[in-house]
Amino acid sequence: MDFLDLDINLSKEDIMLKENANEFARKVMRPIAKELDEMTPEQVIAKDSPFWTFMKKAYGLGYHSILIPDAYGGMGLSPLQQAIVYEELAWGSVGLTIALGVASFPAFGAAMVPEETMIDEILVPFCENTDATFIGCWGITEPDHGSDTLMPDHPSFKNPDILSQCIATPDGDDFILNGQKSAWVSNGTIATHCALFCQIDKSMGHAGGGIFAIPLDLPGVKKGAALDKIGQRDLNQGEIFFDNVRVPGKYLIAGPEAYEGLLEIVLSATTCLMGVFGTGVARAAFEEALSYAKTRVQGGKPLIEYTAIQTKLFHMLTKVETSRAISRSVFVYNQNTSTPAEEYSIMAKVHGTQAAFDVANDAIQIFGGNGLTKEYLIEKLFRDARAMLIEDGSNDSLAVAAGHKIIQTYPRKD
Ligand SMILES: Cc1cc2nc3c(=O)[nH]c(=O)nc-3n(C[C@H](O)[C@H](O)[C@H](O)COP(=O)(O)OP(=O)(O)OC[C@H]3O[C@@H](n4cnc5c(N)ncnc54)[C@H](O)[C@@H]3O)c2cc1C
Repeated sequence: MDFLDLDINLSKEDIMLKENANEFARKVMRPIAKELDEMTPEQVIAKDSPFWTFMKKAYGLGYHSILIPDAYGGMGLSPLQQAIVYEELAWGSVGLTIALGVASFPAFGAAMVPEETMIDEILVPFCENTDATFIGCWGITEPDHGSDTLMPDHPSFKNPDILSQCIATPDGDDFILNGQKSAWVSNGTIATHCALFCQIDKSMGHAGGGIFAIPLDLPGVKKGAALDKIGQRDLNQGEIFFDNVRVPGKYLIAGPEAYEGLLEIVLSATTCLMGVFGTGVARAAFEEALSYAKTRVQGGKPLIEYTAIQTKLFHMLTKVETSRAISRSVFVYNQNTSTPAEEYSIMAKVHGTQAAFDVANDAIQIFGGNGLTKEYLIEKLFRDARAMLIEDGSNDSLAVAAGHKIIQTYPRKD
């Protein structure tokens, strides 16, 4: 291990998982992500794109099923091991890590209510898939609903005047789906399945939602164009449209009665994982800066010999370590309790993604003019990190949601 993990209890298996993931990130993800970063969104997902080389290799190694228990054929990792592996993958490329992570979303949701249909049609086929032909996505954001969809327990979440743009209307045992999800859906144009979060009971506002795990070859489903953006260009994103789509009731994971609570549980995992990914990106940026400072000679000596550079590097590494400390411990805690503390997951996300951005920003400063050029990885890390401050909930609105929760929850009564 290049840097301390500050965990003397890591087992041999934990360390092996970390080293294997790092090797995959270094040898496969880094070079492919760089190629994809320079392509158009259409080229990224073209048949002969290296994106598919990455996906097939990752699926072949089981990295698509990191979050799935081994009972269904997933990797069966402990929460700590999941965090360890994800940090390494994000160190390789956060965009590609998100592509893999959301690919498992329908299966991740299905594992929460493992009924026969979900096991036979979603969970097992997804885990057994080795050629990336079963790809999931998470459809929650809509053109007019971003932050407000990710604030369960906030008063705005129950506002009956807020009408979703994607509505599932019960029809006998089925649902009729109409509307759309936004261009931000990761894997949106390439997904075969969707974990769809949409509105069922309009009288309850967002709280009247439902979660489905649906195949996207149902009649009436259409996809938009692949989105172009400044960071995480290796991650495909795009809209999904639903025009009178008949969805069999067997694909419903949770209805309005359980929606808000289940969303909080889902967010407690995903939001915190963004902090884990942020740690990987922050560490990558720190390493780039450290290695550059050792070789770049200015004023007759290497940059690293200047005290100002040493203190900057110290503050950067502190951010990496605090980000890992918070995100790992929150993820492990929340995955081991039936009442996860979502405010802590938000803390991990906001801190970790801000750390990624700040460290990448400081790294560019250490690189000087070279940091702004395409020649060095650091400018890509900076653009990727910028997207993280908005991805999976903008840090500002997440802070509003967490602040509300904190004043309600603390001091705890139990
Ligand atoms: C790289 C990336 C990947 C993504 N992947 C997915 C995906 O897989 N699936 C999916 O469905 N979505 C995805 N998203 C969408 C993402 O979740 C939303 O972009 C995010 O929730 C913010 O929503 P918005 O962009 O509509 O911004 P808005 O909600 O319009 O917010 C705009 C600004 O207003 C602020 N704001 C909004 N409400 C409040 C409030 N109540 N209090 C204070 N400030 C507020 C926000 O903080 C923000 O700064 C992704 C986004 C990115 C960037």
